[in-house]
Amino acid sequence: MQTENQPVEHPILSEKQVSLSIKREDLIHSLISGNKYRKLKYNIKAAKEQKQSVILTYGGAYSNHIAATAFAAHSNNLRSIGIIRGEELVNLWHENDTLKLAHEHGMRFKFISRTAYREKTSPSFKKELKHEFGDFYEIPEGGSNTLAIRGCEEILGNLDESFDVVCCAVGTGGTIAGITNSSYQHQKILGFPALKGDFLKEDIRNFTTKENWELHSDYHFGGYAKVSDSLIHFINDFKQQTQIPLDPVYTGKMVFGIFDLIQMDYFKPNTKILAIHTGGLQGIAGMNKQLIKKRLPQIL
Ligand SMILES: *Cc1c(COP(=O)(O)O)cnc(C)c1O
Repeated sequence: MQTENQPVEHPILSEKQVSLSIKREDLIHSLISGNKYRKLKYNIKAAKEQKQSVILTYGGAYSNHIAATAFAAHSNNLRSIGIIRGEELVNLWHENDTLKLAHEHGMRFKFISRTAYREKTSPSFKKELKHEFGDFYEIPEGGSNTLAIRGCEEILGNLDESFDVVCCAVGTGGTIAGITNSSYQHQKILGFPALKGDFLKEDIRNFTTKENWELHSDYHFGGYAKVSDSLIHFINDFKQQTQIPLDPVYTGKMVFGIFDLIQMDYFKPNTKILAIHTGGLQGIAGMNKQLIKKRLPQIL
């Protein structure tokens, strides 16, 4: 399945003589949008083939992957279990839009401390989980495994060959690896990490052997799910100009970065840029609640 590439009109683009289109993966579905759909597709298939009835995965309280996994499991008649970072959420999860949504789609939660969460891949914790829940099909945090990369290889299609540059937001690096795998050799893939950290390049190399990608690491706005006034204003202005909504955790930071690079003449005139809208819009409601508390402007 290919999603539509929507051309963007903006004064800066005409001034700098570059073109920008947005691949609307966010329109796949309002809950299981964008790359999380791609990542889950072959995992759900494998779980069914292995006759598993339970999907178990990991995430934070605002995780798009948690919301998407709950929904995908539910629509495939599978049960789902979310191992959630933060013990304090045991009594607070029903105030969290993402977790509420996941719960409505049947996800069962186990809340663990941040320390325990860091150790979640240890054999002893795995044993504990098996003891508590029985057999399950496990998907790692953020959903990035080999089958997820295969799904992300389907984001780009034949019709995308004419683009010179393909941009995407980066969390665990699975999506950019899949996009790179299916890119054309003349294309450059630019990744915009949504969090701080140097581990990403290694993680990406685990899933792709091609080298036509690079990371632009100056657009994380202080770290994962951190935002600033200027980012919120950018997201709101962009929506007003183009009618395209962006999320504050991933795609907003990516498009901000693309426009910053365009301003700095990073791209040669006539460059054709494609930006992947990986979705994440379910997170806006939860972010707005935080913004109200901090007396910051909200996402419109
Ligand atoms: C999870 C997510 C990403 C990051 O994908 P990775 O494969 O983890 O790098 C990007 N955009 C959105 C909207 C996401 O939900």
